[in-house]
Amino acid sequence: MKYLASILLFIATNAQAQAIHFKSVLVDTHNDALTACIEKKVSLDQDLTGINHSDLKRFKDGGLDYQLFSVWCDGTKANPYAWAMREMDTLDAVAARNPDKIVVAKSWAAIQKALKENKIVAQFGVEGGHMIEDHIDRLDTFYKRGVRYMTLTWNNSPSWASSHMDEKNPNYTGPKGLTAFGKEIIQRMNKLGIIVDISHVGEATFWDAIKTTTKPVIASHSNAYSICPVTRNLKDAQILAVGKNGGVIHLNFYSAFVDSNFEKKDNVFRLKHKTEMDSLLKSGIQKEYAQTMLAEKYAAESEANKPDIEILMKHFDHIVKLIGVDHVGIGSDFDGIDSAPKQLRTVLDYPKFTQALIARGYSDKDITKVLGGNFLRVYRINNPH
Ligand SMILES: [Zn+2]
Repeated sequence: MKYLASILLFIATNAQAQAIHFKSVLVDTHNDALTACIEKKVSLDQDLTGINHSDLKRFKDGGLDYQLFSVWCDGTKANPYAWAMREMDTLDAVAARNPDKIVVAKSWAAIQKALKENKIVAQFGVEGGHMIEDHIDRLDTFYKRGVRYMTLTWNNSPSWASSHMDEKNPNYTGPKGLTAFGKEIIQRMNKLGIIVDISHVGEATFWDAIKTTTKPVIASHSNAYSICPVTRNLKDAQILAVGKNGGVIHLNFYSAFVDSNFEKKDNVFRLKHKTEMDSLLKSGIQKEYAQTMLAEKYAAESEANKPDIEILMKHFDHIVKLIGVDHVGIGSDFDGIDSAPKQLRTVLDYPKFTQALIARGYSDKDITKVLGGNFLRVYRINNPH
């Protein structure tokens, strides 16, 4: 009888999750599919099942309404700005071929229209200040193309801000925190409506940015340091500061930022497949994508290392405890990661996240905020026009 009751509860929870999930505007602030498609020579409007975490059809089937696509290259590329333009061209081409499915929206009116017509709203998030190559006016060009946030640093540092990696690197010789030029960049971003993203930055840069910005910030894809202590996650003082600033922390699904036990297990996996990894790197594939390819090839082994979604939800609970439910969202990092919690395999699995919120007793109103309402609030303050 008890067993039957729990099955009925599960079915009821599942039905409620389906309803609120598909009724809400679901925003994901971080997805690397553009780079993944270039690396794998595929396109988002193809069926990429088994190849990518995302494609146009599966976005919709998973209930996604609004995607910020990461524009990214690592710090070693000679022309990151040209690369950024090329990545944006690839999405523009997808949108041009599929005007009934996806729109690169550049105004609030365009966002509202696309949502009403049940199309995916697409915008860009530039991942790393190095992509402007020290030219502040390139922010204006980015904005015109549909860039609505910029991560101040990726793991590398531009000349004007230090990353989380460089701030702990004894050989790093650049400035720590934001330079005067870095502060000017934030002012220009505030003026244009490019949201300041503090994921990937070092702590010195974080505190300088939070003092300089006049608008709410986002962490487009970061978790809580006290649950999983890696420098990509946010310490409690930083979480409190984002709350005070009115910003939103979007949860990253990457196993290494979710579960503090993951890295040790993953190192064993990587060591075992090192020869194959080295040959992929030699062929010119960027490291992050070589890792994804190996994880997919040896799926059973990598599956065993994945954390449960409940560990991700510990980050959610912790952030809510510190700053409340108005300051959390989703920044999955799909297609930029080689491992995510067992239940969150691809963009088809977003409803499982909603189910975990329902299991915690959140109201429909709060769930709608977490799924996208919180981001939309920050977006409107940054982009009142
Ligand atoms: Zn990232």
